[in-house]
Amino acid sequence: MKPVKKDLQIAIDGPISVGKSSLALLLSRKLNILYIYTGAMYRAVAFLVLENNIDIEDEEKITRLLKKSRLELKRPSKRERYIDVYLNGKDITSELFSRRISKIVAYTSRLKKVRDYLVDLQRKMAQNKAVVMEGRDIGTLVLPDADLKIFLTAEFRIRVQRRWLQLQEIGKPREWGKVEEEIRERDRIDTHRKESPLKKADDAWILDTTNLSIPQTINKVIEKLKEKGFLE
Ligand code: C5P
Repeated sequence: MKPVKKDLQIAIDGPISVGKSSLALLLSRKLNILYIYTGAMYRAVAFLVLENNIDIEDEEKITRLLKKSRLELKRPSKRERYIDVYLNGKDITSELFSRRISKIVAYTSRLKKVRDYLVDLQRKMAQNKAVVMEGRDIGTLVLPDADLKIFLTAEFRIRVQRRWLQLQEIGKPREWGKVEEEIRERDRIDTHRKESPLKKADDAWILDTTNLSIPQTINKVIEKLKEKGFLE
């Protein structure tokens, strides 16, 4: 499938474990366009903070180090990955989804200077290209003129189940209650922070995935793109 528009931009936002990454990756493959997973970039910042023993509130130090680092997103080299993330030439992807990162990432993502820097980088990555970009502030801030803005939702119970199953599949099982707690906490911080909190853009299309499989979700998006004249 080939989009009618050469620089078609699709923005996907939504909370944790709602299916953003699966949708974005598969959609990018189907349309043969670039996939930008911004959450991985925020995770890389959390990684930098932990590796260098920096205080998670030390905005200056974190930003300085981030600006000196080379952060790259590449196509996934393994089946179970959405993306490969390189920091200063080193593949750090397998570190980014660990518990220690997931526990602090929502905190380091609150920092304004970190966000300003990453947003700028994300816009440059998407410039004059056809992209599908996913995160929390894509439709509201990073790509305000995106051709299609999708806000994914799903019932809380379903999101916990998806995350719980995903952890089992990757061989890192966790108690249901603990998964529930982590999702609730990260959602709370992402939604209530001062700097670009998770929010639906006024012109975003809400897609509830509670009762949809991944292929069904993709089909809905393809239909929507056709309806808007972006696909034939
Ligand atoms: O998408 P994922 O859950 O991997 O993102 C990890 C964290 O990165 C989120 O919980 C959020 O704190 C932060 N994030 C963000 N803005 C984005 C993408 C992710 O603040 N655009």
